[in-house]
Amino acid sequence: RAGALLLEDCAIAHADTQAGDFLLTAADGRQIRAGTVINAAGAWGAVVAGWFGDVLPLQVKYPTMLVTEPLTRQIGVSLGVEGGGFYARQVARGNFVMGGGYGHALPGDRSRPGPAALAELSRTAPAILPVLARASIIRCWSGIEGYFPDKNPVIGFSARVPRLLHAFGFSGGGFQIAPAVGETLADMALDRGRLLMADRFSPTRWTR
Ligand SMILES: Cc1cc2nc3c(=O)[nH]c(=O)nc-3n(C[C@H](O)[C@H](O)[C@H](O)COP(=O)(O)OP(=O)(O)OC[C@H]3O[C@@H](n4cnc5c(N)ncnc54)[C@H](O)[C@@H]3O)c2cc1C
Repeated sequence: RAGALLLEDCAIAHADTQAGDFLLTAADGRQIRAGTVINAAGAWGAVVAGWFGDVLPLQVKYPTMLVTEPLTRQIGVSLGVEGGGFYARQVARGNFVMGGGYGHALPGDRSRPGPAALAELSRTAPAILPVLARASIIRCWSGIEGYFPDKNPVIGFSARVPRLLHAFGFSGGGFQIAPAVGETLADMALDRGRLLMADRFSPTRWTR
């Protein structure tokens, strides 16, 4: 409705700058010309940044998560231990959704939960929420996420390449701030506004 064109299954394999514009080439040969590029490639964001000479210290990790059978209502808030060792919430149906620790990569951009992380969760969870000591786990899973050393994302223009806006590395917290990030990126891309405390999120914060 707003005039955007969404291209699905369109992996960008290569990017050039040409006469002040960007020329992006997809793996299937499609080409896209753009005046501004937002690099929102998540855990792959540092690879994309590297195409333009921006070297950023992103670490790729595979958060481990699991879910229990439905239990009677215990908590109405989302719990998190600072440092990321354990977090949990109880959904309306009663299941506890929990996470902590990391798994490992599989070929083809896939991942698996980590056995050590699952064992650690089985010790930590009942220590914090005793009701979980006898709960059955019905499923576990993982995913692929990019982390920066200070656990803040990069949100800001490249210092090397004009009109290249980086926004990735949400370090395990990208869902919750996505609406605000999206609005901010739209403003920045259209030169309508800027980020508060921009230096905290700048792609140059490790090179100063
Ligand atoms: C298991 C797990 C649990 C999580 N739980 C929570 C939670 O409870 N709360 C929370 O706030 N956050 C959570 N997160 C973190 C959250 O999922 C991420 O921070 C968020 O999805 C990051 O969004 P993004 O758009 O930056 O990256 P992504 O969602 O990873 O999207 C990046 C996209 O870019 C695409 N891409 C990459 N390279 C290219 C290319 N060359 N060409 C075209 N496309 C490309 C990828 O295919 C992908 O679709 C969790 C993450 C995981 C893995």
